[in-house]
Amino acid sequence: MPQQTESYYILPERSGMNIFNEINNSALVIVDVQVDFCPGGSLAVAEGDAVVPVINSISHLFPYVVATRDWHPEKHGSFASSHPGKLPFQEGDVYGISQTLWPDHCIQGTKGAEFHPDLNLKPIRCILHKGTNHRIDSYSAFFENDKKTPTGLEYLLKGLGFSTLFFCGIATDVCVYYSVLDALRLGFKAYLIEDACKGVDLPQGSVQKALKEMQREGARLVHASDLRS
Ligand SMILES: [Zn+2]
Repeated sequence: MPQQTESYYILPERSGMNIFNEINNSALVIVDVQVDFCPGGSLAVAEGDAVVPVINSISHLFPYVVATRDWHPEKHGSFASSHPGKLPFQEGDVYGISQTLWPDHCIQGTKGAEFHPDLNLKPIRCILHKGTNHRIDSYSAFFENDKKTPTGLEYLLKGLGFSTLFFCGIATDVCVYYSVLDALRLGFKAYLIEDACKGVDLPQGSVQKALKEMQREGARLVHASDLRS
């Protein structure tokens, strides 16, 4: 049985869902499993690389897999280095939208922007680049941070007939979080594969807060072992 956590994990049998039927009709969204978000990267999430074997153990089960990449031009507006006097992790204004300013990361064409080298790319049918506009960041896989400019992912997945999505990747409390909330808002049914995600957890507790918020909005938490058995 999967380890219980503080989040409200629901055993599949208790929730009444048939998880295997769900997988057969669902798309998997892998969020930002990139070198810069893993140990040694410029915006490393602690143990970010731990998601890789977990994702590799389940990605082949899905009929469709899309992977996102943060894919910034140099001097992107979300970088603290683009704001004289500002330091990484301070709040800043990115062309009218306030957000955290980050160290330079995931610059297009650099090693740091590549997928983690051990991520199995074979099941991935589509790669979605986000954060490509210099003037606006994109935490969600569905919208830029203005919350209205679409990335196109909604139309892709709905056009392919998917109404149920499973999410994994980095970071639980940032890009995964915003992607799941937007998916629910767009009418998708959303599952979060909890042990296939890692979070920044700054401030401390933000991962648990994000998990609870996603569940409150309708996301269901599962573990990778639920999908394999
Ligand atoms: Zn970014």
